[in-house]
Amino acid sequence: MQKFSPIAESYQKIKTGLPDNVQLVAVSKTHPKEMIREVYDLGQRVFGENKVQELIEKHPQLPQDIQWHLIGHLQTNKVKYIAPFIDMIQSVDSEKLLVEIDKQAEKNHRKIKVLLQVKIAEEDTKYGLEVHETKELYLDYLNGKFPNIIISGLMGMATFTENKNQVRKEFTFLKHLFDQLSSQQKLDTLSMGMSDDYPLAIECGANSVRIGSAIFGSREYL
Ligand SMILES: *Cc1c(COP(=O)(O)O)cnc(C)c1O
Repeated sequence: MQKFSPIAESYQKIKTGLPDNVQLVAVSKTHPKEMIREVYDLGQRVFGENKVQELIEKHPQLPQDIQWHLIGHLQTNKVKYIAPFIDMIQSVDSEKLLVEIDKQAEKNHRKIKVLLQVKIAEEDTKYGLEVHETKELYLDYLNGKFPNIIISGLMGMATFTENKNQVRKEFTFLKHLFDQLSSQQKLDTLSMGMSDDYPLAIECGANSVRIGSAIFGSREYL
C-alpha cells in the first residue's frame, strides 16, 4: 500500500526544498477541491487561482483559513466578487484596477494586499505594467493615493523559453526594481518563479514562488 499519494509526495518534496524565507503559493487553478483539500491537510494555507469565477466557486467549499491569492488578469468589474475575502491580488496591471480595488476594499472595511505585476518578459505578453508605470504607481501609493490598499511587492513572469540566461536576466531585472522601490519604503514580497523556473527565481532573489503543475500534476487533461 502506498503511504503518500503522488500529490502529497510532490508537495512535501518541494516544500522541504524551499529556503525558510520563501513563501509557497500552491497554484490550484483547474484542479478540484478534493486535491486542494489534500494539500491543505498537509499544512499548506496559501493557494493561487487565476480566474475569478473559479475562485468564487471554490472559496465557500474549502476551509475558511485558506489565504487565496489571485494570480491572473483581473477585470475591473469583477473586483467586487473577491474583495470580501481575497488575501492578495498578485496581478495588478493598471491604475484603473488599483483604483477599483481601493474602492471595494473600503466598501468591505478592509485593506487588500496587492502586488504590482511588471512586464519583464521579452515576448509580447498582454499583461503587466511598464517599469515607469510601476514607479509612478508606487509613488502615488506612498503619497497616500490608495489608502485601502497595501502594496506588498512585485510579481513577474519570465519569458517562456529554455534559455536560462534570458530568464535569469529578466528575474534579476525585477529584483533590481524591487530593491530600488524598497529603498523608498520597504516592500516584502517578490513573487517570481513557477514549476519550471522557481529554483532560478529564488537564486535571483524571489521570496515567493507560484507552483502549480509540479505539485498537482499536468493541467492538460482538462
Ligand atoms: C498557472 C500559473 C502559475 C503556475 O504555473 P505552473 O507552471 O503550473 O507551476 C504561476 N503563475 C501564474 C501567473 C499562473 O497563471
